[in-house]
Amino acid sequence: MPEAKETVLEINLGNLAHNYRYLRSKIDKEVKFLSVVKAHAYGSDSVAIAKKLEELGTDYFAVAYVEEGVRLRENGITKPILVLHPQYTHFEQIIENCLEPNLYSEKTLRSFISIAEKLNQKNYPVHIKLNTGLNRLGFDQPEISKVKELIANTSTLKIASVFSHLAASEDWQERDFTVGQIDLFRKMSWELIQDLDHEPLLHICNTSGLINYPKAAFSMVRTGIGLYGYGNDKTVDPYLKPVVTLKTIISQIRKLDKGATVGYNRAYKIEKPSKIATLPVGHADGINRIYGKEKAGVIVNGKYAPIVGNVCMDIIMIDVTGIDCEEGDEVIIFGGPQHPVKFAEAGGTISYELITGIQRRVTRKIIPE
Ligand SMILES: *Cc1c(COP(=O)(O)O)cnc(C)c1O
Repeated sequence: MPEAKETVLEINLGNLAHNYRYLRSKIDKEVKFLSVVKAHAYGSDSVAIAKKLEELGTDYFAVAYVEEGVRLRENGITKPILVLHPQYTHFEQIIENCLEPNLYSEKTLRSFISIAEKLNQKNYPVHIKLNTGLNRLGFDQPEISKVKELIANTSTLKIASVFSHLAASEDWQERDFTVGQIDLFRKMSWELIQDLDHEPLLHICNTSGLINYPKAAFSMVRTGIGLYGYGNDKTVDPYLKPVVTLKTIISQIRKLDKGATVGYNRAYKIEKPSKIATLPVGHADGINRIYGKEKAGVIVNGKYAPIVGNVCMDIIMIDVTGIDCEEGDEVIIFGGPQHPVKFAEAGGTISYELITGIQRRVTRKIIPE
């Protein structure tokens, strides 16, 4: 019998708990655990995920943008929230919502200080980002003395943490580069904090960092993708459980004979008597056109059915010839019997892009632990 009423992204909080406990077990007890819940918790539901992670004992959260942090505060999340990529125009809102900014440039540091002064802040927790080779956000080594000077001359803020981000922690061929980043971070962070009267947290590891370089956990790790069930490595994936499963149902089934074509641009040509099913999900839901033309497939009653022809905005067609199925039957696009990484790879992409790309019009269904 059909379970799903439409296209649904199931969010399994038991799997999240499993992944949290697995990743936590990889690091010492004293090391703090920051959970990255940006981009709707990697395309799922940031409020449900953050609530569960708070219950599980996470120490910190991170989001990319201010609105993402505000949403968590409005929904009762109380743990500290690091905003990874704020603009100076957001600093008032950051302070009003008890969010903690990443200050990554002289401009952000100076403008945060002046806004914190205006709002009469004392020792407001901030995070200083160091660039160790990703060349994305952060202070370079020659700027550290300037950062120290600016911070020494204000009582408005307090460095809660100093951090950096690895460029290729999942790639063993870049091992030397990664070790170099870790060494540079050790040096730069020491230079920055040595004269402070308190000890900020230090962190550089993302998921693959903590799995591949656990000795570089410093005092906190920042995990995103691992919490959602992906290890960026075929040997790590079996220890983790994908949190989301994308399901839909069969809207219509039709039989077609040789010579017929399916979908826009007549992209699929029927060569033998076939059974084609239509599903209510398309590129506007996050199943991009790249998955069409038999590049990827879905699971119908335990069997693989290729996506045929062009992916439409709201619809895909699949070939279910030889598969016992009816209109209304459940279809699994990814998750469960079809590992999302396998689906993502069929489209030439990675887990991160696949799961964050599932659009908000797809119903989210929370499955409690
Ligand atoms: C997104 C992000 C992370 C999380 O990385 P994962 O590979 O998903 O664990 C950590 N740190 C920063 C700065 C990020 O932007």
